[in-house]
Amino acid sequence: MNEFSSLREMSAGLDRGDFSSVELTQAHLDRIQQANAALNCFITINADSALAAAAQADDQRARGSKSPTLGLPFAHKDIFCTQGVLTTAGSKMLSNFVAPYDATVVSNMAAAGMVSVGKTNMDEFAMGSSNENSFFGPVSNPWDHERVPGGSSGGSAAAVAAGLVAGATGTDTGGSIRQPAALCGITGLKPTYGRVSRYGMIAFASSLDQAGPMTRDAEDAALMFSVMAGFDPKDSTSAERRDAWLDATIANGIAALDRPLTIGLPSEYFSDNSNLSYIDIAKTELQRLGHKLVEVSLPHTQAAVPVYYVLASAEASTNLSRYDGVRFGHRCNDPQSLQDLYERSREEGFGEEVKRRILTGTYTLSVGYFDAYYLKAQKIRRLISEDFQQAFTKVDVLLAPTSPTPAFKKNQLTDDHVAMYQQDLYTVPTSLAGLPAISLPCGFCDGLPMGMQLIAPAFGEELLLQLAAQYQGQTDWHLRRPGDSA
Ligand code: GLN
Repeated sequence: MNEFSSLREMSAGLDRGDFSSVELTQAHLDRIQQANAALNCFITINADSALAAAAQADDQRARGSKSPTLGLPFAHKDIFCTQGVLTTAGSKMLSNFVAPYDATVVSNMAAAGMVSVGKTNMDEFAMGSSNENSFFGPVSNPWDHERVPGGSSGGSAAAVAAGLVAGATGTDTGGSIRQPAALCGITGLKPTYGRVSRYGMIAFASSLDQAGPMTRDAEDAALMFSVMAGFDPKDSTSAERRDAWLDATIANGIAALDRPLTIGLPSEYFSDNSNLSYIDIAKTELQRLGHKLVEVSLPHTQAAVPVYYVLASAEASTNLSRYDGVRFGHRCNDPQSLQDLYERSREEGFGEEVKRRILTGTYTLSVGYFDAYYLKAQKIRRLISEDFQQAFTKVDVLLAPTSPTPAFKKNQLTDDHVAMYQQDLYTVPTSLAGLPAISLPCGFCDGLPMGMQLIAPAFGEELLLQLAAQYQGQTDWHLRRPGDSA
């Protein structure tokens, strides 16, 4: 057992009695204490409650419980409400907010006996692609501390890549699981919209937000995903299904892929072929595994980034109107009037990027501009979705890059908002269409990890995980660690 052991390996170790969950959890806490100062990937470390949960898991195991997830340590992105624990969403606005209840993802994982060791750093309200928008400071990429880990789930990605935890939850509105997974050399699954409950997950853009696992391999992603997913009556957009394969996966792991697939390469994603040699290696490997590659077209891809930033900002502007200094979080000192209370609490509580989104979102929703921006963006969203439907009449899954560049330097893009938004080029189309996608490590560029993205039709997570597991069974990109020479 070492810091890069997988959840599955730890589970087997617990079963054999090699160590207890308390010992395992303590080892995780020690590593986090030691590494967090340099990486800044945790906002809160919950040593006491983690050790108490671990002791309870040991007790249950001693009394015969066989659940594979019982007693496994992991971390939550600090966007999930955790009862009695600080829940900040990376914002000054919520820097004093102790959640009064658990998000469904949090209660699902606790019910499976998993042990949360803490809450990870993130871009404020999940808005960003570099984790530089956190009130709690930037996170360092474990591969190069001068560089960003990606965002918004940058703390989770860095913690997993550095071996502080084997799994962490993330959320993805336009790429926030997949892009940091790619930039940190780990595996991240963004599920189908509606698959994982949004209840208690602090809202950014409600028609896009979706939670998923960030782990070092597909097997662990499948394990965590199967625990996180499921119908939840408390989320009105939750899908009323719980596929049988989810429970089978928890018990036995991912079922082997039993047929060759047709994999589509969207030509629009490969038009900038400057540094795509790492994807060529992945293509060759997939062909060697017996899969057929064909070219497809997603003609409205170009519009995806502008459409996403119109819609996500519009939804953010309404979601974030609840932070008015009255009910949640930061309140200004000595307000002179109700208006003053609202204005100063919001002025002081929100960071610059969040304010930018609220302003643009409010603008595109206002009378006179609604038709030209919001409505038009909704129409194009439909076209983007139809592009995918069309492609999936010909192919089983799609293959694409996850991010246009490897991890960039801190401060490199902070003044160039459009360049920062362009980071999401390959991830937002899937989000707009509500489809599942997984990012997995597949090579290096300038010594930094790169990811590839596999995209499936709605509710096709099993196929994605099967293909990812098959690929990882034959390659070792997911086993490369920061500090190894690339
Ligand atoms: N980078 C994108 C944004 O800033 C996506 C963020 C996310 O998925 N939460 O909106």
